[in-house]
Amino acid sequence: MFDKVQAAAERLQGQARRTPVMTSRTLNTRAGAEVFLKCENLQRVGAFKFRGAYNAISQLSDEQKACGVLAFSSGNHAQAVAYVGQLLGVKTTIVMPDNAPSTKRLATQGYGGSVILYDPQKEDREVVARTLAEEHGYTLIPPYDNVNVLVGQGTAALELHEDVANLDVLLVPVGGGGLISGSAIATKGVNPSCKVIGVEPEVANDAYLSFKTKELLAIKNPPTIADGTRTPSLGKITFPLVLEYVDDFRTVSEDAIKEAVRFLFYHLKIVVEPSGALGVAALLSGALSVSGRVGVILSGGNIDAPTMTAILSEG
Ligand SMILES: *Cc1c(COP(=O)(O)O)cnc(C)c1O
Repeated sequence: MFDKVQAAAERLQGQARRTPVMTSRTLNTRAGAEVFLKCENLQRVGAFKFRGAYNAISQLSDEQKACGVLAFSSGNHAQAVAYVGQLLGVKTTIVMPDNAPSTKRLATQGYGGSVILYDPQKEDREVVARTLAEEHGYTLIPPYDNVNVLVGQGTAALELHEDVANLDVLLVPVGGGGLISGSAIATKGVNPSCKVIGVEPEVANDAYLSFKTKELLAIKNPPTIADGTRTPSLGKITFPLVLEYVDDFRTVSEDAIKEAVRFLFYHLKIVVEPSGALGVAALLSGALSVSGRVGVILSGGNIDAPTMTAILSEG
């Protein structure tokens, strides 16, 4: 699998931004470790999802590209697929719930995606998506449970290890497990002694529980502010990869997540969405006590102004 991450990195050359690694003395002091932040909030479309979408869509056959692709998501994956489609001249259709915030719909349309709305009370999004795919010959690009997608996501960790040698620990936020699977494969390929630790909201700790019990558990619609991690469970492909490659998990409270978003805003002057701040939340809250060199993936920066304002005014 590591060779697939390396191949994805080559494919992404000149396409994905090589995002910076930031450090902060204040954070080092608070964490009691040397912390290196991989800023995927500064990636194209504002999240690492660009990597997996590009790696997957660019490898489709000419025929598949001519028919177009389909994704179901209202979040960062939707925008990534729409944007990559625009770059590669591939038609994209995004299936979204009709209660998705209009900003997300407009952003996706702004990148050239056709948005199809469905009623989440009455319809199942996978059925809606499958029907559309069959009718039009679209290829489905899943948000995490797909090898080309997850090895693409792993290139973020690969770059971090290239820029910062000898990390002892890598902290990665977990939703459906694409980012952490790819990151763990990359890590064990470059620096096998580096521990890979997944971080989840306490109220959305399905991956943590699945990891501990070795049985795939789901939590539907968890009430977390970290919307990138609201996926009910790991996937059929990502769950076994998590069991094989990931070393441990930690969970953090909603307050700790907001505190981390504020910390990154005030001390590093960067905008990081709640899902993206999970690793820093684990360090600041003491959910994980570490020493040595710690890498953290700041997975995304897409947060709307009202949510950011509310988080900042609470602190
Ligand atoms: C999608 C996403 C995640 C979770 O990634 P998975 O591959 O689903 O585990 C975390 N943070 C952000 C910002 C995301 O967009």
